[in-house]
Amino acid sequence: MKMTTRIIIWMIVGLVLGSVINVFARDVAFIQDYFVNGLFHVLGTIFINLLKMLVVPLVTFSLICGVCGIGDIKKLGRVGLKSFLLFLFTTASAITLALFVAVLVAPGKDFDLTKTEQAVFEAPQAPPLSQVFIDLVPSNPVAAYAEGNMLQIIFFTILFAVCILMIGERGRSIVVSAEKLNEVMMKVVDVVMSIAPYGVFALMAKTFSLQGLGLILPMIGYFGVVVLVLLLHGTGTLMLLLKFMGRVSPLKFLKKMRAVQIFAFSTSSSNATIPVTLRAVEKRLGVDNSTASFVVPFGATINMDGTAIMQGVATVFVANVYGIELGLAGYLTVIGMAVLASIGTAGVPGVGLIMLAMVFNQVGLPIEGIALIVGVDRLLDMMRTAVNVTGDAVVTTIVARGENSISMSIFNDPDAGMIEDVYLPSGEARI
Ligand code: ASP
Repeated sequence: MKMTTRIIIWMIVGLVLGSVINVFARDVAFIQDYFVNGLFHVLGTIFINLLKMLVVPLVTFSLICGVCGIGDIKKLGRVGLKSFLLFLFTTASAITLALFVAVLVAPGKDFDLTKTEQAVFEAPQAPPLSQVFIDLVPSNPVAAYAEGNMLQIIFFTILFAVCILMIGERGRSIVVSAEKLNEVMMKVVDVVMSIAPYGVFALMAKTFSLQGLGLILPMIGYFGVVVLVLLLHGTGTLMLLLKFMGRVSPLKFLKKMRAVQIFAFSTSSSNATIPVTLRAVEKRLGVDNSTASFVVPFGATINMDGTAIMQGVATVFVANVYGIELGLAGYLTVIGMAVLASIGTAGVPGVGLIMLAMVFNQVGLPIEGIALIVGVDRLLDMMRTAVNVTGDAVVTTIVARGENSISMSIFNDPDAGMIEDVYLPSGEARI
């Protein structure tokens, strides 16, 4: 059976089992201790750690190969600028669509604040925008690597790789070694992906046994509008861009992205999904390493279309609940703030709410309003992360197409780069 099919089956089994536990066994200590907080928790966390473990070395080696593969600093700048502008554009169109639909549907108009049990939400400190730019440059690259600070790692690695190019022939052996190390890391990705069905199962089972679908009912207005706009953006706007700017088939693209979306959905982290996105974009879609190695990690950090959608709907929802009129100026501020906020925050679970606090501060909405949506945020986080990574891959494909650095024969081959089972070498394997 194909690996993607297996992952989908195990995902559904996890989802159903988790929901059954949530309804029937929430108070059964044995199940909670040994399964939810035992087996599912341990397996799920190990799986996420395995993915995160790959991110820093893979991005580093891949970027060195990518930059040295481009070989032309002007082209590097052009790829950087194009992808940056496209990321801003997709995020801005995502939040504009979200505001538009939310204003039309008006979720939260009849919401009775007195009848809800308010969760407490502590407004986290959002960094000032100037700090976001200062933080691009690491004062200590080793610290940046140790913390997995993606923008700093990208900055340092690109500078390092450009300087390899500058020393000319003498840098050649470093590039050759980086290519080999990159190949090894890609193999590690394959090995980790071969256990993906069980990891995805454990993550699903744990999340859904803790987050019953019943949570959604009182918030169905808000929840429904976010899901609707996520679908409209993920299968509409992004696919139109892909069709008209990238001139490739959206259907083939979506088929090949399915596994990546499931990884994003079950981990709720674009960052942890980077290895899988990078693999899919290069091996399944045929994008050249010179473009993918840069645009994918860059996008996972600064491009969050799904998150911006949640923020747009949340803003309208909370404004309606508290009876606050935002007006056109307010909405424009929300668009600008959400786009800027997405640049400075990494793709990790729950970061969308921190960014939302920033947006609320700016337009004068009560931060306590965020407490209303915290309950359903875990589930929405999963869905918006899937849209976030789809946006990253769409922009990578469009930029690669413009730069002529995509192999259309790989893109059009349905079987290219399929995830396969990995086999351990036999006793005779020697190098
Ligand atoms: N979890 C999202 C991501 O990693 C960010 C968020 O919306 O909280 O892309």
